This record gives sequence, C-alpha cells and structure tokens, in this order.
Amino acid sequence: MNEPLADSTTAADSSNDTYQNGEKTTIAGDASGDGLAASLEAGASPDNENDLADAQVVEESEATAAHSTSMAVWDVPDPVESQSVFTVRVGAKCSNGCSIARTLVSIFDAGRQLGSGYLGEAVFSDKLDLYWADIEVVAPVEAGHYQWEAVLSASEAESAASGEAAAVHLQATARFNVNVALAAEHSLTVTIVGQDTQEAPGRTRVILLPYRGYANENGVYTAKVAAGTYELLLVADRYDDFRATIDITGETEFRAELVPSDYETDYRGNVFRIDKETGERIG
Ligand SMILES: [Zn+2]
Repeated sequence: MNEPLADSTTAADSSNDTYQNGEKTTIAGDASGDGLAASLEAGASPDNENDLADAQVVEESEATAAHSTSMAVWDVPDPVESQSVFTVRVGAKCSNGCSIARTLVSIFDAGRQLGSGYLGEAVFSDKLDLYWADIEVVAPVEAGHYQWEAVLSASEAESAASGEAAAVHLQATARFNVNVALAAEHSLTVTIVGQDTQEAPGRTRVILLPYRGYANENGVYTAKVAAGTYELLLVADRYDDFRATIDITGETEFRAELVPSDYETDYRGNVFRIDKETGERIG
C-alpha cells in the first residue's frame, strides 16, 4: 500500500508481469519520476511536455491491468520568498475511481528531491475528488522561475475496488511553476545608542515599514529586508524620536545616536537625564 515503489513490486505477486509492463511503459516514455530524475541528473534536458503526453497515451493503451492516474498541484504561494518553508498541495486520483490513499508523493526540482509525503485517507472535497497531501518544502536560494515536479509513486490497486486481481496504479508526474522572489535578501543592522551614554538607550521601537520590531538589549536591531529606500523611525523613552532615510542596496549597517529629550548639564559638563515622572536626575 504505502510502501515505496521497490517494495510494492514484490508485493504484487499475481501481477508482476502487468506491473513490469506498466513500469517499462512509463520509463520508455521517460515521464516517470525515476526516469526523469535520472535523465536530469545526467545533464540531459528532456522534452518534458512531449514525453509526458506520449507516456500517458501508451499507459492507457498497453497497460491493460494498470489504472492510470491523474494529478493536480494547487495552493502554491506565488511568489514564494527565497529560502522560506512553504507547502505544496498535491492531489491525485485513479481513472477507475478506486482509492489511492496512502500513496507516496515526492516533489522534485531538476531531479533533486525536496520533500515527500503520503496521500491522506479521504478525498479533498465533493467537488475535488482527489486524494491529497500537503508537502513541506524549502524555497531555493536564487530568485527566478522554477518548474518542479510532483511524482506519484506507482502502487498496488485494491482489487476489491477495481474488480481486478491486484491491478497497479501507474506512476504519474505533474509539473508546476514556482516563482521565487528575493523579498528580503539584504541584512540590515541598526545599532542604537544614546548620544549621552553611548550605550543602548533601553527598549527601542524600530519602524522601517513594512518592517518593524524592537532593538535587542544591546540596542541592535537586525532584519532581512528587500532593496529600497526606507524611512527609519526609532522611538525610545527619554529620547527624541529619531528619523533617517536609509538606502539599502546590499548588506547595510547603520548607527543611530538618540538625543535625550530632557537633560541637565552641570558645571563640569556632565549630562544628567531627567526622569520625566519624578523630575529627578538619573545616573
Ligand atoms: Zn485504481
């Protein structure tokens, strides 16, 4: 049932011949996940669409005891952010209408497996009668347009459902597009000190729309941001709001000195911050 391809071959005792025929057919068409992966790893650039179309025709005409399968991929975020984790939703169905629950589905990018999972126990909905799985993958580092493949492993059919002796569900491949964007590829480091203390000014709110957050206890704020021009706003207790324009074209470090909003200077030139609630000197 849910074993990998190699195991289900041995499990399908009474239909080995049929199974092997189906497998041969698929490989000859070069549309199986294994065949395609192998050819891509070897540096070939297969004519994917034509190969897939040819293989589907052959599967239906020659593999008499095999059930053809169809697949769909949907709910892929567009675009996906470089290196982010996201989910690919894959569904599949048998042309004879029997269950293909617990069948292995794998995601490939140019022959490299990115993730895999098993189809669930139930179809997605009344309108979408596909057995389905959400498969978690990590987006590529490089921005660009990718064509990935979801490969449904061959599996033994449930004879009770099909009325045939141990039929086989053929392997199927669905290709789908993934657009990867460098939404936030530059690291920004803002180091914030009080002009009076040259130390972290305490809890400081950082606004760099659409990014926002707080500096850490050392007065440092880091974020991954996209290239562009930003208005930086820093807000900390007992300091004037700090504003600056920052152009980000690469890794960027920015130092901000916050001006105390209230202070007194004694005759030696020492600066004392004033507690706004008590009016007393601090430090
Ligand atoms: Zn079937």
